Amino acid sequence: MKRFAVFIAVVGVLVGCSREGGKTRFASVGTGAVTGVYYQVGQAIMNVMNERTGTTGLKVTAEATGGSVANINAILAGDMDFGVCQSDTQYQAYHGQGEWQDKGPQEALRSICSFHSEAITFVATEASGIRSLADVKGKTINIGNPGSGQRQNATDIFRLIGIDPDKDFVAEGLKASEAPKVMQDGQLDGFFYTVGHPAAAIIEATAGRRPVRFVPITGMEEFLAGHPYYVPVTIPIALYPKAGNQEDVPTIGMLATLVTSAAVDEETVYQLTKGIFENLDRIRELHEAFRNLDAQKMVDQGNTIPRHPGAERYFREAGLLK
Ligand code: GLU
Repeated sequence: MKRFAVFIAVVGVLVGCSREGGKTRFASVGTGAVTGVYYQVGQAIMNVMNERTGTTGLKVTAEATGGSVANINAILAGDMDFGVCQSDTQYQAYHGQGEWQDKGPQEALRSICSFHSEAITFVATEASGIRSLADVKGKTINIGNPGSGQRQNATDIFRLIGIDPDKDFVAEGLKASEAPKVMQDGQLDGFFYTVGHPAAAIIEATAGRRPVRFVPITGMEEFLAGHPYYVPVTIPIALYPKAGNQEDVPTIGMLATLVTSAAVDEETVYQLTKGIFENLDRIRELHEAFRNLDAQKMVDQGNTIPRHPGAERYFREAGLLK
């Protein structure tokens, strides 16, 4: 009898679920390319959540994906529970704009909170001679894979200044994890990546044999005025000492955010939100782009669509929402 009890106890530990009578609920988080910052967000969430599986019954996995658009579509299809995406992309999905123009409003999408800030980042080889957006004519530029946030950002910016990505230059659709190497191999003049800084992909792009520089994105007053979730930002050049620029690079930014679907149950979203916010001190240490994360700002800024009730419940409990 005693031996049997020991056996049961061991099995209990091996199954990894000590929550009384509960089953383990698996939840997935869609991120981005492994050399971006979303992947780090996913790793951070996975780390803090899987330490508390015993009390929450929740086990989290974070996956590399194509980025914002791919994550939103996977969440809406019920293939993924959570995803990281840009604040502009969540807005566009909910309102049926941009990538969702034909499909219409994606009203099941729900926000949780925002994370680090991102910058529309354009890097080009010195040899290409590209110093401003207008210089891309006739060049080969990676605007990003379908499924990424940067693809829409690059397209919008070029259209705004009267450059047609279908005609005026060769627009490639590579993943952000591939672009730095392809550029260093001489097959790209530049690439776009909407990302937090520092990002491993940008370090890789600027630290190769071919000299590289950031191209500023300026003259966007109209774009900024029409879209409240975009803000002017600068890329601190100190983060990339091998880039050719001498000064911080002006561009456009937005926030990275965490989203889910209305179909995901309240308890799961509550537990995940609580896990993140109770561990914010640790998360800040996990990546330089997370250093300035502030709980109140994560609740108040960048969430451009209705909030999931599970997140709202935690924020009220924690005094972050009145
Ligand atoms: N902002 C990019 C996207 O939406 C991803 C950036 C990252 O992975 O850090 O696809």
